[in-house]
Amino acid sequence: MTGILYLVATPIGNLEDITFRAVRILREVDIIAAEDTRHTRKLLAHFEIHKPLIRYDEFVDGAKIIELLQEGKNIACVSDAGLPAISDPGADLVKLAVEKNIQVCPIPGANAALSALICSALDTTKFTFAGFLPKSAKNRLEVLNELSTHKETLIFYEAPHRIKKILEEMQKVFGNRKICIARELTKIHEEFIRADLNSLAEKLDEPRGEFVIVIEGCNAEIETPAPENFLDAYQKLISEGADKKSAIREVAQKFNLSRREVYNAVVDLENNL
Ligand code: SAM
Repeated sequence: MTGILYLVATPIGNLEDITFRAVRILREVDIIAAEDTRHTRKLLAHFEIHKPLIRYDEFVDGAKIIELLQEGKNIACVSDAGLPAISDPGADLVKLAVEKNIQVCPIPGANAALSALICSALDTTKFTFAGFLPKSAKNRLEVLNELSTHKETLIFYEAPHRIKKILEEMQKVFGNRKICIARELTKIHEEFIRADLNSLAEKLDEPRGEFVIVIEGCNAEIETPAPENFLDAYQKLISEGADKKSAIREVAQKFNLSRREVYNAVVDLENNL
């Protein structure tokens, strides 16, 4: 008999946000596969759960866990917070398990995106979960441009250090839409900043802690700026007589890109002409 792979939701802040079932499953399984074993050890200590822990993150090959499941071990996969496999390790393990006909069982619970959405006061009937935006400004711009025509509410995860920059980029691409920043959900300093992109991008200081950005979808009443490709903007400047160096500088500034990124794209463009 093969074991069962349980995907167990853990709290995103408040330790009370774990279900009775999650605690029972964590007590009953043979092994817990955790994104960060030190982090999970603290959670388990709180609930007086003593189980063997193995590490499972994007750097660990899931094959070993599949072997253990095939040997009949029941395994709970947990991430540092919330639902495993949502912007967290777990999705690849589920694919591997399904390929091997291993039963996969969800143990639902806390999730930052949905907790933010339900308190955002924005449309909850249809939404797109966009997760983390790419690190490279150029790729980020492409993703934002692609999302700019989506009619449904948009949900993003973001790291604290670059929110101001991201909000400025969103304002440029999305225009002035309603936004809700859900900060430190379920924690002592939980806060919802509900505003519009124009006022927020200018005023917001770098918020501390963890947060989710929820933004109104594309709506006929809001003017969404036509997506502009930075290379088009570069070529327009050149056609107007700008020299290459100043055109690169101006485009980099306008699109929040590094000069190096624009330069590399221009070189690619010239090579492909
Ligand atoms: N698996 C998790 C879930 O189900 O929500 C998400 C993990 S992802 C690596 C971490 C991101 O989730 C953070 O950067 C932040 O955007 C969001 N997040 C997690 N906990 C949060 C909290 N307590 N308050 C606000 N955002 C949170």
